[in-house]
Amino acid sequence: MLVLGIESSCDETGVALYHSVDGLLAHRIHSQIAMHTEYGGVVPELASRDHIRRALPLTEACLAEAGRRLNELDAIAYTQGPGLAGALLVGASVANALGFALQKPVIGVHHLEGHLLSPLLADPPPTFPFVALLVSGGHTQLMAVRGIGEYQLLGETVDDAAGEAFDKSAKLLGLGYPGGPALSRLADAGDPKRFTLPRPMLHSGDLDLSFSGLKTAVLNLVRQQTPLDDATRADICAAFQEAIVDVLTRKCLAALKQTGMQRLVIAGGVGANRQLRAALDDATAKRRMQVFYPPLSLCTDNGAMIAFAGAMRLKEARHEYSYCAKPRWPLASLPAA
Ligand code: ATP
Ligand code: MG
Ligand code: FE
Repeated sequence: MLVLGIESSCDETGVALYHSVDGLLAHRIHSQIAMHTEYGGVVPELASRDHIRRALPLTEACLAEAGRRLNELDAIAYTQGPGLAGALLVGASVANALGFALQKPVIGVHHLEGHLLSPLLADPPPTFPFVALLVSGGHTQLMAVRGIGEYQLLGETVDDAAGEAFDKSAKLLGLGYPGGPALSRLADAGDPKRFTLPRPMLHSGDLDLSFSGLKTAVLNLVRQQTPLDDATRADICAAFQEAIVDVLTRKCLAALKQTGMQRLVIAGGVGANRQLRAALDDATAKRRMQVFYPPLSLCTDNGAMIAFAGAMRLKEARHEYSYCAKPRWPLASLPAA
């Protein structure tokens, strides 16, 4: 079965073709980061308009790359939510218009299920059950995953998401938007021991997390150390990254212990972080456990994870072309597939 996936929940337009036997045939992403940079964050109306410009050309590029035609599609999957309402509506409109024109079934995919299942696109993929750490720009959640749509929330951030903490701290350090990757690069040159930052909720006894205090600690350091020289900036980045990696790693281990599971799966943009991967590799290897990540290019938003999640839920695809976006949509409300 050949599934087209369209992602447009925020500031990336992603399109991909996934085949249930041959795997991922093509995927293309257009990032709007350059467009939003001068505003220091995503401007929703600009995002929507840009998705309109990109969706069809990216679809054509994917089809050309895979050597397929539109009428060979078996289904069309699109991100139905959560995300920016206007941006979501663009993907939904394109998917449903294509479905109607081609008389192919369409399926609305949950963006976080897309992230969560993206490690299944890695080689080798993890088998169920596993503990999943979803660490993206908007979410930080630990879940027990027993199958497609069988997601039990174990704990989550009580305030900022880890990616958000990366981005906000980067902004405080003058590293632009979204600063997560830049902060991480600078951290490599810094000394993580010069400053000690808090490890919030490490001893809370549950699997919840908190990152806004860490961001405030960065703010205080930046104020103390003004004017910031490059070495100090790098040292703050290193201390910040070490704190966040430490908390995430220890909470993952606690979740593995609590569930008795042996496999850990990381999903979402912060899953691209090299320090985090190194710490998790080390911690799981020591305990003879396994850890799985999405391919690096599929950590942040992309169409491949949407095409794949759609393929996993093909039975739910419908020849119905009325649609709505779901800007808020709890992951745990999804049915088992
Ligand atoms: P959500 O999926 O929760 O709606 P999102 O789609 O914005 O949020 P993603 O695209 O999964 O989130 O990830 C983007 C986030 O990942 C940003 O906060 C970005 O800074 C962060 N990020 C990306 N690469 C890295 C890295 N190497 N180190 C740390 N953070 C990173
Ligand atoms: Mg993004
Ligand atoms: Fe995302």
